[in-house]
Parts: sequence; structure tokens; C-alpha cells
Amino acid sequence: MSHISGVKKPLCHTNSFTGEKVPKYGVETSHEEELGKMLGEIDRWGIDMFRIGELSNHRPLTAVAYASFQSRELLKTFMIPPKTFVTFMMTLEDHYVKENPFHNSLHAADVTQSTNVLLNTPALESVFTPLEVMAALFAATIHDVDHPGLTNQFLINSSSELALMYNDESVLENHHLAVAFKLLQNDGCDIFVNLGKKQRQTLRKMVIDMVLSTDMSKHMSLLADLKTMVETKKVAGSGVLLLDNYTDRIQVLENLVHCADLSNPTKPLSLYRRWVDLLMEEFFLQGDKEREQNMDISPMCDRHSATIEKSQAGKHVCVSGGVAHLQVGFIDYIVHPLWETWADLVHPDAQDILDMLEENRDWYQSMIPPSPPAGELKEAGRGGDLVEQEEDDSRQDRIRFQVTLEEGEGEEEEEEGGASSAAGM
Ligand code: AMP
Ligand code: ZN
Repeated sequence: MSHISGVKKPLCHTNSFTGEKVPKYGVETSHEEELGKMLGEIDRWGIDMFRIGELSNHRPLTAVAYASFQSRELLKTFMIPPKTFVTFMMTLEDHYVKENPFHNSLHAADVTQSTNVLLNTPALESVFTPLEVMAALFAATIHDVDHPGLTNQFLINSSSELALMYNDESVLENHHLAVAFKLLQNDGCDIFVNLGKKQRQTLRKMVIDMVLSTDMSKHMSLLADLKTMVETKKVAGSGVLLLDNYTDRIQVLENLVHCADLSNPTKPLSLYRRWVDLLMEEFFLQGDKEREQNMDISPMCDRHSATIEKSQAGKHVCVSGGVAHLQVGFIDYIVHPLWETWADLVHPDAQDILDMLEENRDWYQSMIPPSPPAGELKEAGRGGDLVEQEEDDSRQDRIRFQVTLEEGEGEEEEEEGGASSAAGM
């Protein structure tokens, strides 16, 4: 318990790029020109992070973090030596688990780039200080480091070392933070070396607040606070949001990073579908482990449960009915309520994002196999059963996405349905 698990012996990353000069885009690659073109679009929602992964020699996080810090002149403002920045980011990237289908450095790069775009939203123009902007981007880069590809619930149920270490409370999120802050202590890795003591303290506090807020069990209370903020929204003369105390400022930043973390359903469908496939594979690997260890298999983690394929417009589209169902439920109960509230806060900046989310939801809805019409059911004498089954499915959905609420908050909801953990959260 005296050390932080997962932290590897310092690797000599100073040798990872040849010579003294940092590569133009932070990574050595034989596709520099094409990578440069893609990174030129770092401010666009929906860039193809999978392609950036290929072009960056499988260092998308280093490339995206370097590009977003450079485009905001954060290295100059905080006197971060470029070599230190790249050394830290490469070390951080090496501590993301490559074998995870979803929670690897590509997801971290995606969340960092999404955070970068959200920070540019006109309603927040000049609202945040450079230190706050840097804290949000940094939080996004580190927010899932050394993720084992297993959920908090699994780690708790299996009495893992990590759950023991953090007393079952935000186990993964505490771990991501501890690993990242430990890595900053490696030789030549402290990107905050030239910050004043007060700045370091403030940055650390903000980063901790933001990463802990990515725990899905905090989702409901985060959203409730955001809704209250929207109701009492104050805007300055110029139309930008007025956030005049730490509580309000950090609350917007926490929600911003949380939105970025839950942004895959708002991306162009081809990208969204790839993220879903990767996440499902990670859930299934956890299910395999649960089966092996005679544990109950978590919802959506059983790869052997029925998969139903569907043809669309003559083209064979392979989407399991269960997966489509999960996506519609995830959007309806979690993602849409969050993004709708965010869109209200920054109105009208996020309208296109919300439109894409709704389109994607309808696409997955169209992939759910239709249930037979009620008339046919009656004739077959099974109508009652199936209607009950449908009602049951919908209740199950609600329960699946009713994430655990913090004690003392959202008590009404708890009384109504009995909060339970959502699939994979
Ligand atoms: P994080 O683990 O920090 O990435 O938190 C986000 C959580 O949201 C993930 O662990 C997943 O459980 C969940 N999530 C993200 N995207 C999806 C999706 N498309 N479908 C279902 N769950 C998702
Ligand atoms: Zn994440």
C-alpha cells in the first residue's frame, strides 16, 4: 500500500525523440505532413481521432495535448519547456493500458480534443483564466490513466487492491489522479515546474475536482447543479456567462470535462459506432472475467447473450439489438439530459452537437428489432405477456441508467426507484 500501483520505473523518454529538438507535432512520425493537416483541425468537433492515432505513430494523446497547449500558447504563458511537456505526455501515454479496447490513450486524446473544443465555446469567451484552461486540458489528458478496463463496481466486488486502497469511493478516479501526479515527479517530467506555489496548489485542486467528477456515480448530482445554474444563469453585458466564484467556475469546468467524456454519442455516426464497438468489447472482457471467477455477470457484459442483426436499406448492418437498446437508453437517460442542459447553458453554441446526438439516437433506435403489432400478439394469445415484457424492459432500462446518487442528494429519486449501478459504471 505504500506505493501507487501501475507506476512503471521511469523510462528514459528523453531518448525517445532523436536529437535535442522536439518533433514538430510532439511525436516522431513518417506522416508528419498529414498529421499536421489533421491537427490543424484541432478546434473542430468530430475530427477522426482514429486516424490521428495512426498518423501519430500510436501517440494520439501526446500529439493532441501538444497541439492544444501550443495553439493556446500555454507553454509560453507557463514557461513549460517543450521537451518537458513532450516527455511527460509520452510517459503519461505509456501509462494508458494499450490492451484495453476502449480505455486507452485514444479515448484520452478524444476527451482532450473535445475539451479543447468546448473551451472555445463563444458563451465562455475570456471567462476562464489561462490556469483554469490548462487545468481542464490537463485533467482531460490524465482522466483515465492506468484504467484496468474494469468498472469501479467490479473492483469493489472482487475486493481488489485498488478498492481497498480507496475504501470503495471513486476507486478508479482516485487512482488516475494519483498515478498522474506521481508521474509529474519523474525526472524531466514536471511540466508545472515554473508555476508559483499558489498556482500549483490551485491547479492541483481544480484537476482533482474535475477528474473525480468523471465518476459516473456523481453524474446525477453534477447534472442537478448544472440545471440549477441554468435556471439562475447570469450573463455579462457582452453575452458571456458570469461566473464570479470558485464554486460556479469549477462546476462549469467539471461539467465541461464530463460532457467531453460522454461525447462519443454526439460525434459523426461512423466514429460513434467505432467507440461503441470498442466499449462493448471491453464490457465483454470484463464479463469473461466475471464468468471465469464465478461472479455475477454485470449487465451488458455477457458476450454470449443473444445478438440480433439487422438489415438496413438492403445493406447488412451488423448491430446487436441489445447494443442498440443500450445506446438508446444511455442517450435517453444519461447523455441527452446532460447535453441538453449544457446546450441551454451555452445557448445557442451547442445546437449542432445536440442535433447530431438526436440523429444518432434515432439511428440506433431504428436498429432495435420491431416488436410484433399488438393485434398479431392478441391472435397468438401472447399479447399480455409481451406487453408486460416490454414494460419490464423499459423499467430495466430506467434502473440500469439510474446511477448511484450521492448520499443526501437526489433523495426523491432514490425513494422512487431505488438507485442502482448502471452497466459498466
Ligand atoms: P470513463 O470511464 O471516464 O470514460 O466514464 C465514462 C463512462 O460512461 C464509461 O466508463 C462508460 O461506462 C460510459 N459510456 C461512455 N460512452 C458510452 C456509450 N457509448 N455507451 C454506454 N456507456 C458509455
Ligand atoms: Zn473517460
